[in-house]
Amino acid sequence: MKRIFVACCMLMGMSSSMAQTKKAANVVVVTLDGFRWQEMFGGADEQLINDPSYSFDTAALKKKYWAATPQERRAKLLPFVWNTIAKQGQLHGNRTLGSNVNVKNRYWFSYPGYNEIFSGYPDTLVNSNDPTPNANVTVLEFLNNQPAFKGKVAAFTSWDCFDGIFNEKRAGFPVSAGFDSLKMKQPAFRLLNEMQFLSPQPLGEGVRPDHLTYTIGKEYLRQYAPRVLYIGFDETDDYAHGGRYDFYLNTAHATDKWLADLWNTLQSIPQYRNNTTLLVTTDHGRGDIVKKDWRSHGSEIEGSDQIWFAAIGVGIKAEGESNKSEQLYQAQIASTIAALLGLRFTPPQPVAAHLPVIMK
Ligand SMILES: [Zn+2]
Repeated sequence: MKRIFVACCMLMGMSSSMAQTKKAANVVVVTLDGFRWQEMFGGADEQLINDPSYSFDTAALKKKYWAATPQERRAKLLPFVWNTIAKQGQLHGNRTLGSNVNVKNRYWFSYPGYNEIFSGYPDTLVNSNDPTPNANVTVLEFLNNQPAFKGKVAAFTSWDCFDGIFNEKRAGFPVSAGFDSLKMKQPAFRLLNEMQFLSPQPLGEGVRPDHLTYTIGKEYLRQYAPRVLYIGFDETDDYAHGGRYDFYLNTAHATDKWLADLWNTLQSIPQYRNNTTLLVTTDHGRGDIVKKDWRSHGSEIEGSDQIWFAAIGVGIKAEGESNKSEQLYQAQIASTIAALLGLRFTPPQPVAAHLPVIMK
């Protein structure tokens, strides 16, 4: 009798742990270019928000984003991240709590970072921002070559370099990068195409404004229902380089709104509702030790290899902000995207194992 009881418990234990191992049917990845962990976890920086050479209307800016504690400040800046992801998902990279996330590549700028995120391999040959076709196979290309995902992968990015990062010609999935003309024929896309070409180009010819990238990506989600969608924003990095801390904060705040809108949209569509994981991260950090270096990044800027990531949805335990002593790497994200979908990422190049965030 006792033996049967033990066997029953084991079976019950197995089935309850198996019930927790839930694969996501869809994964959505979003990146904020060069957005620092300092603002992600601490909100507006006291020195930078008070410096009139970086923040033109400091009084108005402080009204929006300032508060006494870092916890209040970050919730003002990123309300969706801190009211929803932090409660239902996970956030890693708060170094003040011992949670370290770093890039593994030695360059600490964009193309090497995005290559590391999506190919899982911090390749030393990927060492410039030239838009050359990536020799490495990204996890998006890998997924698009799996029968269950064929034609169900798409990428929308503000920066035009992604045609190279994803090796669009070889990859076989749509990459709408920068001001790429939209091929989709539905009226909404015709209108969005007109808007992108008629809008001012405050960030130059190579960077589509983020709100257009978002709206185009969201419309694609609604019309084509991809299983794997990537949206890559850029403006946080552009405004930081330009020394505009006010614009940097406003863009981060707007991106948080888009994340909320994206998550609500996903939960309103049967294919995605309770069936999807959202991953949010960045390609590199920026300086902080020397305050003026917040504008910059690269191997000569100490700390600009420090990043963060957030995750919410199927397969992600609601553990909130990580306060574990841990060292995680950007290179682990590619395998994580595949693992969330129940697959092992096995491209020709060597890849890092997935992040320890997936429910077992
Ligand atoms: Zn940059």
